[in-house]
Amino acid sequence: MQLTDLNPQGGIGANALHIRLGRFSFMIDAGLNPKFTGVKALPEYNKLEDNSLDFIILSHCHLDHLGSLPVLIKRHPRALILMSYPSKLIAPFMLRNSYNVMRKQRNELKLSEYPLYNHKDIKRVIKKSLGLHFGQPRRFNLNGDRVDITLFPAGHIVGAAGICILYNKSKYFFTGDVHFTPQKTLPAAKFPKDDFDTVIIETTRGNSERTIDKSRYREEVRLLKSIAEILGNGGSCLIPVFALGRMQEILTIIYQARQNRSLSEFPIYCSGLGMELANVFDEISRNTGLIDFNRNILNKLAVKPIPSTLNFGQSPKRPSLFIVSSGMMIENTPAYLIASCLLSSSKNGIYFVGYCDPDTPGGKLLTTPRGMNFLFDKLDFICPLNAQIEKYDLSSHAEREDILHYAVNRNPRNIVLTHGECEAKDWFEKKINSIPNAPKVLNPNPIKTYKL
Ligand SMILES: [Zn+2]
Ligand SMILES: [Zn+2]
Repeated sequence: MQLTDLNPQGGIGANALHIRLGRFSFMIDAGLNPKFTGVKALPEYNKLEDNSLDFIILSHCHLDHLGSLPVLIKRHPRALILMSYPSKLIAPFMLRNSYNVMRKQRNELKLSEYPLYNHKDIKRVIKKSLGLHFGQPRRFNLNGDRVDITLFPAGHIVGAAGICILYNKSKYFFTGDVHFTPQKTLPAAKFPKDDFDTVIIETTRGNSERTIDKSRYREEVRLLKSIAEILGNGGSCLIPVFALGRMQEILTIIYQARQNRSLSEFPIYCSGLGMELANVFDEISRNTGLIDFNRNILNKLAVKPIPSTLNFGQSPKRPSLFIVSSGMMIENTPAYLIASCLLSSSKNGIYFVGYCDPDTPGGKLLTTPRGMNFLFDKLDFICPLNAQIEKYDLSSHAEREDILHYAVNRNPRNIVLTHGECEAKDWFEKKINSIPNAPKVLNPNPIKTYKL
């Protein structure tokens, strides 16, 4: 196997892993780096000869994996795109939303290259995509060479897939973003227990210690208690979330708490994409049972889109709960704007429920001491941090020990580290090297090609 990580900055960003197996040339994922705008957010696609890919496999629909797929397929029109059946339903919504955001940003940020693709390119993605069912292998032949590809449910978000590739009697497995614990709306990953030649793993939580005292249920209860306290005292809450997955999960937790009467009624606001995706989740739930989500909860909770009249730094008129993107409070997103409205009052709360890159506004807010000024530089607005800032361990990524355990027990020759910060990958590297007869660890440098 020949492997090149085309994510130029390394870490978690523009995921795109180029693989060569015999005559086959293919890409796993085609993401955009959420920390950057413009062409800087793209993987280093120039390293590949145009129209040379045979296929592209998408692990799931978060934009750090999907966001540049229209750009890639335009350059490789011959390639077939493989993804899970739920991802095929979700991808067009994510791409159209991303296109609308880029169109808006074209003038706001003076980026002449935006949008990076148009509706025709998104249509091309849809046309070239094959929605695979989990556990059903698909065979591809090319000039006498053949490869078998099977997708397995990866937990994380609906449609997320671990990818098993069989080539020439060798088996390779890519975990993608994975969660081995069931979530409120989604079952845990169901990965094969076979032996593999090489396992390519995500390492997102490599820098977080196992949290034995923080069961998922206890964290849900803790979050609900905080929300009830803030709203009971006349404040407002912001929960920054990814519109895909996290938002529907949090809404379900809130809905069930309301059913048990452990949470009173208050206005709930969500961002538009998350509300649109609720309909798709409902369809997937009814057709496949791969997720347990009912769109009626949005009506029962009377969820509304964010009021367009809300300006930065302005307090909401009534105590409200905002469940809005982005999860890392990236600039120019609803979460960034709402945070500017809530941050200066000690009555309010901002509650993080997923991973925050340390360089993003969310990551910076988490390390800013109370009482200090916080700068929203894209809004040119500064205010003291008086609101309650808290983190709840409701991640959709597996704990590092669980991923390590899964990978090592496949008796691989190689383990490849992807999708993690340097410290996170270092933890995996050290742990694996301390095992007797350890598999070889590869922590690939961006753009460099490795033979395994
Ligand atoms: Zn993801
Ligand atoms: Zn990811």
